Amino acid sequence: MTSPLSVLEKTFGYDSFRGQQDEIIDHLVGGGDALVLMPTGAGKSLCYQIPALVRSGVGVVISPLIALMQDQVDALEAVGVRAAFLNSTQSQAERARVEQAVVAGELDLLYLAPERLSVASTAALLDRAPLALFAIDEAHCVAQWGHDFRPDYLSLSMLHERWPDVPRIALTATATRATHAEITQRLRLDGARHFVSSFDRPDIQYRIVPKTQPMTQLLELLRTEHPGDAGIVYCLSRASVERTAAELRSHGIPALAYHAGLPAEERVASQARFLREDGIVMVATIAFGMGIDKPDVRFVAHLDLPKSVEGYYQETGRAGRDGLPATAWLAYGLQDVVQQRQLIDRSEGDAAFKRRASAHLDAMLALCETIECRRVQLLGYFGQESTACGNCDTCLTPPESWDGTVAAQKLLSTVVRLWRERHQRFGAGHVIDILLGKRTPRVEQHGHDALTTFGIGADLSDQQWRAVVRQLLAQGLLAVASDGYGTLVLTDASAEVLSGSRTVRLRRDPERTATRRQRRGA
Ligand code: ADP
Ligand code: ZN
Repeated sequence: MTSPLSVLEKTFGYDSFRGQQDEIIDHLVGGGDALVLMPTGAGKSLCYQIPALVRSGVGVVISPLIALMQDQVDALEAVGVRAAFLNSTQSQAERARVEQAVVAGELDLLYLAPERLSVASTAALLDRAPLALFAIDEAHCVAQWGHDFRPDYLSLSMLHERWPDVPRIALTATATRATHAEITQRLRLDGARHFVSSFDRPDIQYRIVPKTQPMTQLLELLRTEHPGDAGIVYCLSRASVERTAAELRSHGIPALAYHAGLPAEERVASQARFLREDGIVMVATIAFGMGIDKPDVRFVAHLDLPKSVEGYYQETGRAGRDGLPATAWLAYGLQDVVQQRQLIDRSEGDAAFKRRASAHLDAMLALCETIECRRVQLLGYFGQESTACGNCDTCLTPPESWDGTVAAQKLLSTVVRLWRERHQRFGAGHVIDILLGKRTPRVEQHGHDALTTFGIGADLSDQQWRAVVRQLLAQGLLAVASDGYGTLVLTDASAEVLSGSRTVRLRRDPERTATRRQRRGA
């Protein structure tokens, strides 16, 4: 039998294993089951590719990423590994060819889309071939409480029932403690050894700033800290991707746009340029990035709020894979909270789906509004304890907190009065105008200058009030109605604030977060 190390050297051309790769590989070669939690880019693929080559039979890899299968197979064939895939994009004839190769024992690795396994003929095919192992990639997709649940994954418990003697390895880069437990249970991995790598990416500097003028803020980040650097800018919508890319280009920055609505050839070409050329800025929706292996991405910027901490971690994790300093920068504002809540309300999902989506959003908001170290909070989310990092915005410029109870009471009582006295609901902008005592046309039209709360908030600025609303929303002390207009409504917890039985601590937004370069230059 060839040794794992010689396969690593001869086939893949590397001279040593990274992290726990050798332990994982030995465990699997010995016939054990494994659950592997390893950050993106740490080298999960070799953990099943090498055992598949060392053991006899074909290694079956279950992956939801159909679009990447061709690339994965090409890369393996390029180093002499016999690989193929089966998924819904193939013709009957192509599938038949692959199936023949499986039965003839001519393959080392077979990539399968999860739904293929539910097809009786596929299961029968695997019965006829000696199997080296099953690898379940993106294993968090089996967790209903995870952020990327795929119903097809539930049927993967059959692997254990139908082929109890074939070792299984489940791999994921994103798993909270709860997801981790759910993967173990659903995939029947009770006896599996768990290999959990550190999720820390010490070279990434995490920064979350209040969104005021996003384009200006982004340009400043790129010019002062990342001139000429390659990076990714994530936007929520296709329209904002195109707008942002065009704007960056008009400022002389080589920016490309990438989203699922663009023609396939254009996407392939943009991706190739991003990988090959230096200093390209890719402006994209989250459709971009999965499976992209570019070591020198120096920054990942988010112009809109990610839907979950898992998503944020995965997207920011594409920065600094070469281990050199990189920036993860997110601009986040009141409108993001309102918009995300509306997206959840309007989604087609059932009540359970909406509860999950809300819980994910709440965790993301808690990360945004924390006054503690971002890294401690982020790693804590993945069940890993750590101490303040000294290299995130809250460590570098500790935000002050202040007693926002009175401000919250002023705001909440305005919302109450509008509803009780006038049966009206308004969005944050108008409520803030009332607090500031602004006689806008709308205020005059509704006679809101007669409300007793008119002008009682003049001690804070418009910007500061927006921060108050944002944080009350994040803390669940205020909510957005599901009427589609972003109007504000009270929650059960609001009453405690209004009655004075609950105090409210708020974070004071720093005027401007000092950057490394600016501090040096100052
Ligand atoms: P993941 O699936 O965990 O995101 P990959 O398996 O795609 O990561 O590996 C990321 C990169 O690291 C790939 O380019 C891979 O070839 C490289 N790599 C993995 N293991 C090693 C190793 N032991 N030595 C050198 N490079 C490695
Ligand atoms: Zn920190």
